[in-house]
Amino acid sequence: MRSFTYERAASPAAAAASVAARPGAKFIVSGTNLLDLMKLEIETPVHLVDVQDIGLDAVEDTEEGGLRIGTLVSNTALSAHPRVRRDYAVLTRAIQAGASGQLRNKATTGGNLLQRTRCSYFYDTNMPCNKRDPGSGCAGINGHSRQLGVIGTSDACIATYPGDMAVAMRVLDASVETMRPDGQARTIPLGEFHRLWGDTPHVETVLQPGEIITHVVLPPPPPGQHFYEKVRDRASYAFALVSVAAVIAPDGTGRVAFGGVAPRPWRVAAADAALPQGAGAVIAAAFADARPTEDNRFKIKLAERTLAGVLSQARS
Ligand SMILES: Cc1cc2nc3c(=O)[nH]c(=O)nc-3n(C[C@H](O)[C@H](O)[C@H](O)COP(=O)(O)OP(=O)(O)OC[C@H]3O[C@@H](n4cnc5c(N)ncnc54)[C@H](O)[C@@H]3O)c2cc1C
Ligand code: SF4
Repeated sequence: MRSFTYERAASPAAAAASVAARPGAKFIVSGTNLLDLMKLEIETPVHLVDVQDIGLDAVEDTEEGGLRIGTLVSNTALSAHPRVRRDYAVLTRAIQAGASGQLRNKATTGGNLLQRTRCSYFYDTNMPCNKRDPGSGCAGINGHSRQLGVIGTSDACIATYPGDMAVAMRVLDASVETMRPDGQARTIPLGEFHRLWGDTPHVETVLQPGEIITHVVLPPPPPGQHFYEKVRDRASYAFALVSVAAVIAPDGTGRVAFGGVAPRPWRVAAADAALPQGAGAVIAAAFADARPTEDNRFKIKLAERTLAGVLSQARS
């Protein structure tokens, strides 16, 4: 690990200004992703701004009937929150399908949204990787790509966004609230927050340097049954091969998003519209532009079967 300096910020504005003032500085909360990457020298921040004292650790009701979640709320606290359990069960289920109990106790809402890909070549510093080392090439495209993406990928990178929580938040139409270094706040729909890789896969979100996540806002809960199904190689402590977040109304309409398949939680309006026609129609709409490899073509059929299971539970 390379040496770095460290400070604890007292407010979101102070944290944002401090990171913006030093090129190469980063925010840190619990470090469950960042510290691993620093040990491998994949992330090499010169300065860490610890944001655990900035006070954004509450889940509040909004006037509209939704929820406003502070960026420091732990994954455990969020999944156990009474209103989340009652009204946003897809979110509770998604969070509890992620990582392990110990990690969920430490991991925060903002940190979880910003976790980096789990492509094994990204973590192997002997291999070329455009995301870790822009312009060096991509070992994943012609390598072992079973875990990698099938849609929304590019010729530069075929990695996936690995998180579970964001897939549920996407189906709930969540927005991310931020503060810029000049103190200005902005709201970003979650569907626009994670970028597709294009030819700059190292730029993963629309956040600007020094911009800090302050909250995630959920609109009033959508009516219907909530589901989160995650298919993985082990029963726990593993990232999704495919996951399905869905809210299904009694008439068969609803919303659906897929995880483990794309650079961001994958939700397509045409796939939502196809829900009453069944899993095959949804998958045809959601994956119409898919570019799978021979290794990961199975993910599309797996997504269809997982969604078919969800729809069958919704009908029973
Ligand atoms: C073994 C293992 C298994 C895992 N399995 C899963 C899984 O199955 N599903 C899953 O979803 N996750 C999984 N995770 C990922 C885990 O959930 C993340 O490590 C965690 O959510 C990161 O949160 P953190 O608070 O520790 O963030 P940190 O590691 O502290 O930060 C992560 C990144 O976010 C940035 N950041 C943090 N907060 C802010 C903010 N407010 N504004 C701007 N930038 C910010 C940091 O600068 C850093 O770049 C796993 C992790 C491990 C180690
Ligand atoms: S798929 Fe992306 S993260 Fe993986 S090696 Fe290629 S460029 Fe790197």
